[in-house]
Amino acid sequence: RVAYVNGSFTPHLNAHVHIEDRGYQFADGVYEVCIVIDGRTYDFDGHYRRLERSLNELRMPAPMKRAPLEAVIRELLRRNRLRDALVYIQVTRGVAPRNHPFPPNGAEPVMVMTARRFNVSESDAKAAKGVKVISQPDIRWGRVDIKTVGLLPNVLAKQAAVEAGAAETFLVRDGVVTECSSSNAWIVDKSGVLITHPKGNHILGGITRETAIACAQELQLKVEERAFTLEEAKAATEAFMTSATSFVMPIVAIDDSRIGDGQPGPIAARLRNAYKNKACGN
Ligand code: PLP
Repeated sequence: RVAYVNGSFTPHLNAHVHIEDRGYQFADGVYEVCIVIDGRTYDFDGHYRRLERSLNELRMPAPMKRAPLEAVIRELLRRNRLRDALVYIQVTRGVAPRNHPFPPNGAEPVMVMTARRFNVSESDAKAAKGVKVISQPDIRWGRVDIKTVGLLPNVLAKQAAVEAGAAETFLVRDGVVTECSSSNAWIVDKSGVLITHPKGNHILGGITRETAIACAQELQLKVEERAFTLEEAKAATEAFMTSATSFVMPIVAIDDSRIGDGQPGPIAARLRNAYKNKACGN
């Protein structure tokens, strides 16, 4: 395997950054994850724009414009002989003697990229059965709209899911489901209205969430971006989550409550199909 580190392609095993990288010491960095299927990036426009936004929020310069970034991704895929891949992009503020404020003379941002095989049929098989989620308090900071590498609460929430035999965790803040540890949360009410938490400081504005909203509108489904409680979610007709790596993933149980008849719902299935068609090559 080959990784990209600050301008060079290097064997994955030897790819490394300095011990005083601010990403390592302060989680002072941002990242993106996007999917490539059959050599075509999914929703790349959105992912690139969000990367720019995250960098901007942390007052970090963008190390690369969109076209060269896409060229690096293509080359990374070529060198790894991948057609279907998960691409990880990370940018940290760079290397400097450990001190909380930004380095006074600036630092060279450190950009790394990796790619690994992505299995679409595995994801489709999972979606055909649906997944279980658990719930946990949302203990994250107040700016989770920035896609930073500071993910410890997300790690703990996902680990709790794994230990409970579930795929994801609904995060609950003040009784409201904000999102999941690495995806956005949705429910469908009795009238067939799709509900998902509004954008703001308490969720990461998912690129898949955005495209799914557009798909729902094209399917003439009504979408309400509003807060919903855990109780509402447990009583919903359908539930699902969205992310770059899971597309639209039906949820069949929340904690010990079965959702609908315990099978993936028809709306989630339609939306998943529509999403895969729309995101491809964007
Ligand atoms: N919410 C969180 C906390 C995430 O980490 C992610 C993706 O990793 C998402 C939502 C979904 O975002 P996207 O659809 O852009 O992958």
